Amino acid sequence: DKQFPKPSHRRVFTIANQKGGVGKTTSAVNLAAGLAMHGLKVLVIDLDPQGNASTALGVDRRSGTPSIYEVLLGEVSLKDASQVSDQSPNLWCVPATIDLAGAEIELVEMHGRESRLKAALTDEAFDELGPDYVFIDCPPSLGLLTVNAMVAAQEVLIPIQCEYYALEGLSQLLKNIDLVQKHLNPDLDLSTILLTMYDGRTKLADQVSAEVRQHFGDVVLQTVIPRNVKVSEAPSFGQTVLAYDPGSRGAMSYLDASRELAERGAAE
Ligand code: ADP
Ligand code: MG
Repeated sequence: DKQFPKPSHRRVFTIANQKGGVGKTTSAVNLAAGLAMHGLKVLVIDLDPQGNASTALGVDRRSGTPSIYEVLLGEVSLKDASQVSDQSPNLWCVPATIDLAGAEIELVEMHGRESRLKAALTDEAFDELGPDYVFIDCPPSLGLLTVNAMVAAQEVLIPIQCEYYALEGLSQLLKNIDLVQKHLNPDLDLSTILLTMYDGRTKLADQVSAEVRQHFGDVVLQTVIPRNVKVSEAPSFGQTVLAYDPGSRGAMSYLDASRELAERGAAE
C-alpha cells in the first residue's frame, strides 16, 4: 500500500466537542490507526478519564500505570508514559487511568493550570517517539482538561454527528476556541471538521451535513463516516475498526479520512 505523505511539521490535534457520544474517541483512534498503517508515526494522548481511547488501542490503563495524569502532575515524562499499541509499531498511546477523574479539580490549584500538557509536550519528550501526528482525545466537557488540550495543540478537529441537535452547543465550543486563541494560544486553528455516524437513509443526515458544509466550507473533510456496526463492536475487542475489520465500511471511511488529513498537511 502507498505511504501517506509526511507533514511539513509535527501536527498536534485536539479532538474536541463537549457533547458526549459524537465520535471523538472513535475518530481519534481510527484516524491515528489509518495514518500509522501508512508509514506515519502517531501518538494518541488519552485525556478522558473514561479511557476509551486507551482501551481501543489495547494499552494498559490499570490504576498505577504511568498515565497522562502523572504527566500533568509533572511526575512522569510523556515518553515514559507512552505505550506502543499492539496494532502497529508506529502507533503509541499515553493512557488515561481512573486517577484522571480528579484532575479537573486538582488542576485548578496548580501552577500554570492551563498549560500543564503543553509543558509536557516538549521536543525532548518527543525525542524517541518523534511522532508526525499527535491526537489529544478530550472528555465531553469544556473544562480544564480540554483547555489544556487546546493550549497544547495547533489544530482543532471537531467531530459532528449527523443527527438532530448536532449543531446545538457548537457555538459554545467555537466561543471557547476563540477565547483560547485570544488569551492562551494564538496559533490554535479550527482546521478540520469530520461528519460522523452518517445514516444515508435519513433526510436529516443530509440536511445536517449540508448545513455544516455551508457554514464551515473547506474545513469539513470530504469523507463522511457512516454509521456502521463494526465501528461500535471494535472497542470491546480492544481494537480500532481498522484492525478489527479492515474491509468494513467504517474502516474504509476512516482510512479515507486519514488519507485526506495527511494530504492536506503534506509537506510541499
Ligand atoms: P465520544 O468520544 O465523542 O464520546 P465515541 O467515539 O465514544 O464518542 O462514540 C460514541 C459511541 O458511538 C461509541 O459506542 C462508539 O463505538 C459508537 N460509534 C462511533 N462512531 C460510530 C459509527 N460510525 N458507527 C457506529 N457506531 C459508532
Ligand atoms: Mg470519548
